[in-house]
Amino acid sequence: MLKLYDSLSKKNKPFVSLHGNRVYMFVCGITPYDSPHIGHARAYVFYDVLAKYLKYKGYNVFYLQNVTDVDDKIIARALESGVKAGEVSSKYFAEYREVMGKLKVDSVTLYAKSTDYISEIIDLIKKLIKKGYAYPSDGSVYFRVNKFEKFGELSGQIMEKLEEGASIEPDDAKEDQKDFVLWKGYKENEPYWDSPWGRGRPGWHIEDTAIAMCYFREHYDIHGGGVDLIFPHHEAEIAQAEAITDVHPFVNYWMHIGMLNIRGEKMSKSLKNFITVKDLLNKYPPEVVRFFMINNEHLKPLEFSFEAMDTAKVSHEKLVRLRNSLSTVDFDSEFDAELQREMDHAEERFFEAMDNDLSVREGFAAIFTVLPKINKALSDMHGGREQYNNFHDFLNRVNLITDIFPEEDRGYSEAGRIGTLIDSLNQYREELREKKRYEESDRIRSILEKSNISIEDTKKKTKWNKR
Ligand SMILES: [Zn+2]
Repeated sequence: MLKLYDSLSKKNKPFVSLHGNRVYMFVCGITPYDSPHIGHARAYVFYDVLAKYLKYKGYNVFYLQNVTDVDDKIIARALESGVKAGEVSSKYFAEYREVMGKLKVDSVTLYAKSTDYISEIIDLIKKLIKKGYAYPSDGSVYFRVNKFEKFGELSGQIMEKLEEGASIEPDDAKEDQKDFVLWKGYKENEPYWDSPWGRGRPGWHIEDTAIAMCYFREHYDIHGGGVDLIFPHHEAEIAQAEAITDVHPFVNYWMHIGMLNIRGEKMSKSLKNFITVKDLLNKYPPEVVRFFMINNEHLKPLEFSFEAMDTAKVSHEKLVRLRNSLSTVDFDSEFDAELQREMDHAEERFFEAMDNDLSVREGFAAIFTVLPKINKALSDMHGGREQYNNFHDFLNRVNLITDIFPEEDRGYSEAGRIGTLIDSLNQYREELREKKRYEESDRIRSILEKSNISIEDTKKKTKWNKR
């Protein structure tokens, strides 16, 4: 049975969905003010695998991701570059979708932009004011943290610590420095919407709560994000939602993925160790990036380095080669019971690991344990074809969940490289034939045929087959 680690109860809890076959899953999305970085890749590839595993287990997953398309950072970027805030967010959101598409992150049901939910946000703030949890002050509206007793339950922050942290940027409009903003009063050059408290724009925390409640109401299954969002963001989300609905906990599984570090340091522009997803995809195939991002313990920080990426590439290629060899087994020897036991064990261990809070690394480890044994049996031409077909089928199921195998060889596996080579030789042959240099083109044909590659010239194209 699937268990997920819930950061609120700090337990690995058996997964029981609230609505039978339906799973409601919300993951905090990006603030599109800059190019997505590799930390984004780690988080969103992981949640993509979670959604795909739930789907694999037969659930219908409504995966909702918000887009914080109005924010201080976007506004600052817009002012810097002399464009409208909306242009900045559209540009970087488009880049986000593009790189996520390349990374095969395709399980999100709906990307919800905050600015499309202003009326829902205003409604929530009105309710919070009515219940005494919020107050307008100086054109803005704040959440009264002291009134919500459970504040700090998720992060374990004690109130004194909060006051320390909050006093960094004192705000005279607040009753208490711990209070956080729900609605920001209008400032010049900022985008604004009309509200009962005058012109302004929503605060970050309330946007997510309004969007999640719009689709999932007062109680839903999974809320995910990075550990950096636990405080204050998720603490604020809990306070806002539960203050309105009195349903506790409003999310059954709070999931938080560890940060991605570079040489032990947090990635940041100021440290000049900022790597974009685009840059990484220029150096590595998307499947290798996916493999690297999930082949680790997701609750812990992930150390990124190009050496680690290269190691991941080598391991990944072993898996790709194994799957390719399994699809082209051209012998059928006696059933190998010992090999079968090993194969079954690997499959069992893989799914056990996935059920244990998506321990993807453990799952891959199970495959890597049996991999050399299968390769040896294949080269010795041991074992029955059906055994190999079944393991190939298992790897295809692994792929449904992890999406780490290329749909077509991108030229980095052995088979892919040979294919590319044959294609270019054939292209050259076609050019020679067009110039009626048949003697030379026939020589290439005979060289290929000596390597057991048969050539068939059709009107449109030259086809080739391995014999
Ligand atoms: Zn959020």
